[in-house]
Amino acid sequence: MDFNGKTVIVTGAGKGIGREIARMLVERGADVVALTRSAADVDALREEPGCRAIQVDLADADATRAAAIAALPADFLINCAGTTELQPFLETTVEAFDRLVAVNTRAPMIVAQEYACLLIKEGRKGAIVNVSSVASFVGIPDHAAYCASKGGLDGLTRVMAKELAPHGIRANGVHPTVTLTPMAVKAWSDPGKAAGMMQRIPVGRFAEPSDVAEVVLFLLSDEAAMVNGISMPVDGGYMIA
Ligand code: NDP
Repeated sequence: MDFNGKTVIVTGAGKGIGREIARMLVERGADVVALTRSAADVDALREEPGCRAIQVDLADADATRAAAIAALPADFLINCAGTTELQPFLETTVEAFDRLVAVNTRAPMIVAQEYACLLIKEGRKGAIVNVSSVASFVGIPDHAAYCASKGGLDGLTRVMAKELAPHGIRANGVHPTVTLTPMAVKAWSDPGKAAGMMQRIPVGRFAEPSDVAEVVLFLLSDEAAMVNGISMPVDGGYMIA
């Protein structure tokens, strides 16, 4: 997979999976435009060759649209930024629900709208990968808002795949299991809970960010030219267990 001369927008490239995706893309010749929040991550990304970084809080719809426009033009888009807050269903607050939907569902829609509008206007082809989660397929205790936000993202992916493919823009979803990143520390630091999850993964380990990044890059690439609208688990077989 050669990304020479291609520009790729990666949201959430400051940490975890997004950071690994950005690193791999640059290694394979791409220019990366990172949309991310923490100032320290933005500064670090700006030091890296092949990276441009735009600081934005993706929970803010207007700021997200402005950042997406500032990131263009781009050949590909990876919506990777995501956030979680652990709350049992009965204690899930409206505020937390709205925050998660804003970042995990609404922001990918806004960035993809701006990205796709320009491509269509210029008559160019492209591809979008939305990073979802196995949490959109299964109910995970304490993750009601997160599961709902990722289920919403999957709905968007499928509609984008139908509406944008006639314009030459594919859209696919990638669904990781627990992946060893700062988010996983937040969600899976209880050893009992982590052991229960691990038991359900036939390959016997959690994912590394590079496991997810490789699949994302494949779905962007021309090698996946006939792959459109899928939800690809990267879960070591968790979904069949
Ligand atoms: P991390 O928390 O490690 O990194 C998330 C990145 O997204 C950070 O750079 C973070 O920036 C950015 N981000 C979060 N909220 C905002 C915001 N409001 N505005 C701008 N940037 C934001 O998460 P992962 O790498 O683990 O997760 C990446 C994706 O993979 C997410 O969509 C997540 O839901 C999904 N996923 C992760 C799994 C896991 O186990 N790790 C499992 C399944 C799916 P900052 O830190 O500055 O807020």
